[in-house]
Amino acid sequence: RRRDVGLMNGRAPRIVEVAVPSPLYRGFDYRLTGDMPTPAAGCRVKVPFGRQQRVGVVLGVKADSDLPLAKLRPVGEVLDQAPALPDELLGLLCWSAKYYHHPIGETLFTALPAALRRARPATAEPDRGWRLTPLGREQCALPTPRARRQAAVLERLARHPEGLTRDALPVPLSVLRALQNKGWIAPCKLDQPATQITAAAPPPPLNEHQQQAVTAIQAGTGQFGCFLLEGVTGSGKTEVYLQVIEPLLARRRQVLVLVPEIGLTPQLVERFSRRFGIPVCTLHSGLSEGQRLQAWRHTGTGEALLILGTRSALFTPLKRAGLIIVDEEHDAFLKQQDGLRYSARDLAVWRARQWRIPVVLGSATPSLESLYNVQQGRYLHLRLPQRAGSARQPEMQLVDLRGQTLRALLSETLIQRMRRHLTGGNQVLLFLNRRGYAPVLLCHACGWVANCQRCDARMTLHQQRRELRCHHCNSQRPVDPYCPACGSSELLGLGEGTERVEQTLRELFSDYPLRCIDRDTTRRKGALEDALAAAQSGEARILLGTQMLAKGHHFPGVTLVAVLDADQGLFSSDFRAAERMAQQIIQVAGRAGRADRPGEVLIQTHQPEHPLLLQLIAEGYPAFAAAALAERRQAGLPPYASMALLRAEAVNAQAPHDFLQQAAELAAAPAEVQLWGPVSAPMERRAGRYRAQLLLQSSRRGDLQQLLDVWVPRLDGLKSARRVRWSLDVDPMDTY
Ligand code: ADP
Ligand code: ZN
Ligand code: ZN
Repeated sequence: RRRDVGLMNGRAPRIVEVAVPSPLYRGFDYRLTGDMPTPAAGCRVKVPFGRQQRVGVVLGVKADSDLPLAKLRPVGEVLDQAPALPDELLGLLCWSAKYYHHPIGETLFTALPAALRRARPATAEPDRGWRLTPLGREQCALPTPRARRQAAVLERLARHPEGLTRDALPVPLSVLRALQNKGWIAPCKLDQPATQITAAAPPPPLNEHQQQAVTAIQAGTGQFGCFLLEGVTGSGKTEVYLQVIEPLLARRRQVLVLVPEIGLTPQLVERFSRRFGIPVCTLHSGLSEGQRLQAWRHTGTGEALLILGTRSALFTPLKRAGLIIVDEEHDAFLKQQDGLRYSARDLAVWRARQWRIPVVLGSATPSLESLYNVQQGRYLHLRLPQRAGSARQPEMQLVDLRGQTLRALLSETLIQRMRRHLTGGNQVLLFLNRRGYAPVLLCHACGWVANCQRCDARMTLHQQRRELRCHHCNSQRPVDPYCPACGSSELLGLGEGTERVEQTLRELFSDYPLRCIDRDTTRRKGALEDALAAAQSGEARILLGTQMLAKGHHFPGVTLVAVLDADQGLFSSDFRAAERMAQQIIQVAGRAGRADRPGEVLIQTHQPEHPLLLQLIAEGYPAFAAAALAERRQAGLPPYASMALLRAEAVNAQAPHDFLQQAAELAAAPAEVQLWGPVSAPMERRAGRYRAQLLLQSSRRGDLQQLLDVWVPRLDGLKSARRVRWSLDVDPMDTY
């Protein structure tokens, strides 16, 4: 009661600034009424917004507002007693909103688990799902033949001791019931962390370079420091992570490990949990809403010690952070491509500084940004120049394709080499970053080409499904047996995708089990895991795939790796194209010879004299990167400059240009900031919308940021803004 009269007897009013998800760049003031407790910053509240009730997050409590008190609307309800977003996380998010120039409400809601974006209490019941029983685990180890679908369920559950939801097990309920009746699986609550974990495995003794790296990182415990761990593929980077982590866990400090794509790293999760004998809290897009909320709680209370996830895991609350690791730090997947376009790597460094803890960026092919930071003395460079254990670096060799007879991209040299490796009992991995059967469908009679109706792009022929698909907008249509222009039936699929190569491989190597791993063949839930398991166990002898197959895997039986078409990366307009191609080639090559058998890498190209390829192969990635950095410096490109890209799109072709033109005029850029454009995007029309862009660049990050600070919030006020969708990308990963 006393509080109620507070307003009237001159006490300071209780006003809270609340961030509500909306395209606006500021918080909104509300007043607290009656006995309502004063929420701390980071607590969720329910507030009226327009004509709706929305969930918002308190940014702070204040005594007065720019608006008269009478105009302020009252908070409807305080939803949290303790902040859903603890101080440290709130600080990170506020900084991110400012740096990436993204509306504050939307930024905070990017971090919140979906359940908390609604008014759901922060302490919800966990979802239900299925888990192996101890008896079921024993069964898994026995090589008894059993029904295929039951076996598949057992296998999947064995890989997920934390349990899986009903959705994640794509079999009829009767299959699950049958297994339950045998006592092999049981329904359970899916509350991470898992109760069952494999026994701890002892670490191998470190080699000299690994030991130096571990010592350096451990010397930095308890203070901020950024380490770039550059280790050739198979050099034992993961082993370094493990040994740095161990003493931290013993002191109950939390360790956050970020990876580009979690579906590709089931081995990594297993390796972590086996080493420490503790559950790994895994965060990825496949979690159910309830699982995500559970995980969020466990990280926030400090119960989950080891947290492994994709970029969004960067935004998990931590109670007692001890270390952050960003694996494959060069990978473009660490940058979010829509909404809040953040770099999880860069924010990881920021967060580590805030926590005063070390952060380790690991890669065999570090980004030029990180190498630049090493040069500037900001990061400490740790190197693992050799492979761990008895494994040797694979031999790389160019195969000149000019004038050669090819069978679906396979040269005679490659076919022979494959035979040799396969008859020797080894596995072969072939890399082609193009899915489908053929990238072009052409009429031999009249020259008609199957284009996408919604994009400036060709449709890819998917032979098996008799479909044409656009890989840019996902639209699809059946293949017509006759040319729509002239009626001829002579339609040719030009070029090669994985599907065509797969067909040819099956003809040439019918005796060897083959697995094709790309987005088409792994669409079904669990399919990717199955395929990766078959690759790892050696069951699949020939592996063919896109970049999904190139990243991070440890396939001990693979001795021959081939890049089927290295030319692909040599013709792109993006300034990062060369860097990407080099990273991709080295990463794929790194899958060869990772165990005791020596590896060999063949790189097929029509450009065997290309200086970039030659340098990469002769001198390796560090030499390539040094040269590429020197080039960037000369050209004044990132990391020697900062960039921001304003993109706009609309159904109307002119609208994006009009908007960007007005935006450019509004910018009133100082001399230190250059504006390039507006120009049409290299592929102007996509999914039925025309796209254009305006590039802002400066050699001084601060100047660019200052301009963006005033400019971006005013963009929506432009008349032309109403006719487009626009977005700003700070530190863009691609400029098209
Ligand atoms: P990276 O992460 O650099 O690709 P990993 O940590 O996966 O390398 O190591 C590659 C392989 O070498 C793994 O099988 C790992 O168990 C093994 N390994 C790592 N460090 C050592 C070591 N010091 N002695 C023996 N084997 C090691
Ligand atoms: Zn025709
Ligand atoms: Zn399309």
